[in-house]
Amino acid sequence: MSTEHETTPTSFSDLGLPDHLIEAVERLGYTVPTPIQQEMIPHVLDGRDVVGQAQTGTGKTAAFALPLIAKLSSTGPRNPQVLVLAPTRELAIQVADAFSDYSKHLKHINVLPIFGGQDYSIQLRQLQKGCQIVVGTPGRVMDHIRRGSLKMDSIHSLVLDEADEMLRMGFLDDVEWILEKLPNRKQTALFSATMPGNIRKIARKYLTDPIEITIKSKAMTATTVQQRCLITSGGFAAKVDALAKVLESETFDGVLIFVRTKLQTVELAEKIGAMGYASTALNGDIQQSQRLRTIEYLKSGKIDILVATDVAARGLDVERISHVINFDIPFDTEAYVHRIGRTGRAGRSGHAILFVNPRERSMLRSIERATKQKIEVMQLPTVAEINVKRVQGFKDQITAKMLEDNTFYAKMLEDYLQETDADVTQVAAALASLVQGKKSLLLEEDKRPRYQPEREKTYGDRKSKQQRKPRAHNIQLPPDEGLERFRIEAGNSHGVKAGNIVGAIANEADINSKFIGRISIYDDYSTVDLPFGMPAKTLNLLRNARVGSRLMRIQRLADSDKTSDQSSPQNRQNRKPGATNKPKRHSNRYQGSAA
Ligand code: AMP
Repeated sequence: MSTEHETTPTSFSDLGLPDHLIEAVERLGYTVPTPIQQEMIPHVLDGRDVVGQAQTGTGKTAAFALPLIAKLSSTGPRNPQVLVLAPTRELAIQVADAFSDYSKHLKHINVLPIFGGQDYSIQLRQLQKGCQIVVGTPGRVMDHIRRGSLKMDSIHSLVLDEADEMLRMGFLDDVEWILEKLPNRKQTALFSATMPGNIRKIARKYLTDPIEITIKSKAMTATTVQQRCLITSGGFAAKVDALAKVLESETFDGVLIFVRTKLQTVELAEKIGAMGYASTALNGDIQQSQRLRTIEYLKSGKIDILVATDVAARGLDVERISHVINFDIPFDTEAYVHRIGRTGRAGRSGHAILFVNPRERSMLRSIERATKQKIEVMQLPTVAEINVKRVQGFKDQITAKMLEDNTFYAKMLEDYLQETDADVTQVAAALASLVQGKKSLLLEEDKRPRYQPEREKTYGDRKSKQQRKPRAHNIQLPPDEGLERFRIEAGNSHGVKAGNIVGAIANEADINSKFIGRISIYDDYSTVDLPFGMPAKTLNLLRNARVGSRLMRIQRLADSDKTSDQSSPQNRQNRKPGATNKPKRHSNRYQGSAA
């Protein structure tokens, strides 16, 4: 059975959720359920298996977490009842945090994220203490099942989150292995941004008569709005910083900024106010009369920047809105279309800027498909560009001021020049400095916060354009600049694939897959190129991590040559008959992203 989303306004209380969860989402500032939540929550509450074609940013986590929390049994031993499998540690932590937020007020409910790279002893202690919800990456979940530390018999609900990403990272075999170990009678929810054949096969094999939910959107016609996106990373503060740069570099009249929650409208409006702009919040909590006043202020130019939620800005029609900034990406493409329709009104041209973090790229692609337009990626302005603008702005202010009546000051300065015999330019410079105050007119290079994705910060800064280029397969090539070659004790004969290696390294060492270079798989071992300067601690973690069922025992190729010369007679003897020293010819460059 398949259902398509239609925009029927529903409230959380219409969905059949218990009061404590409605209160929890209200506290988090969620006003209305997102389309996937509207569609999915009632079915999950009913106990149906579900397949959701939805990407990050649609509110999919709450779509499964809320009804599954509602169905938890609070009596009996604290054994795992819900298991969520996620492709990356980042997502596992994010999902576990969401479960914790929604169930905060419920006593005795414990949520445990288990992921590669974290000390086993912490996870073992937590598992022993008991928890009802486990969110983990496939490799580490497998390990705990093997050790007997993760008991499967009371699990009644399973979620496969970002199934296509798990496939891309080579976890599909692991996922199937786990699925085989789970009790037969369980409810399963599968989420995937795309539905390739392998994922459909899994759904057919392991899910029972699932409800399929796809959030489809009507295509829209081209508008007079120029659309751009800015790739941002990091949390709220990093995005505020990017917003400051955007506001400085754009020439705007009125600006409408969209965020997800009421709380954020207030918080962001305050930040923008502190940057020196006239800004205010518009959200559903603000009384109707005040809201109308706010809109009037925007129309008349008393305020220039409005920070709003989708609900509060519904139908907003203010001609002078030259820019719509999507500070938070919308939950679906229809919301995006509505948002950007707030600019380019009455035949004017408008600008729409969308902030996208790397995890939200698939939503960006959906928006491009729905709007049938490519959204150009914009760059933050350089310091030099900002400074040129600031200087020009200052000069424009002087020009504008000279058109006013300055008789009193003109007389005062004439007196001053006579009294002091000072140079006119020097006097004007002193006045400019007085006007500017302590704050420097020019931005300094080193003070300019830079965009730097979280993962890049934690592991080297070695990404080069060269690294990202796909290359023809050639084992003889030395590692690219900035990379060194490592040997892993798992190869073809152990059934290892490039995706498994990427998945294991990305999760265990928290290295973004874009830093993982060429991978070559031989019969008994593999090599992988990783950034120079890997800390000993990370290397140790990887040494003891598994790829498939094999310990990686990773070491620098240079070191491994010293200890185990692969061409030594000993090694040659150990090789299986028919084995060669040639790498398997498959894609040796992994082009995905674990971010
Ligand atoms: P997800 O797609 O699950 O990663 O959710 C994206 C973001 O939307 C998360 O920050 C959630 O906290 C937030 N969110 C989820 N549902 C709602 C809602 N109904 N209203 C406002 N924010 C939401």
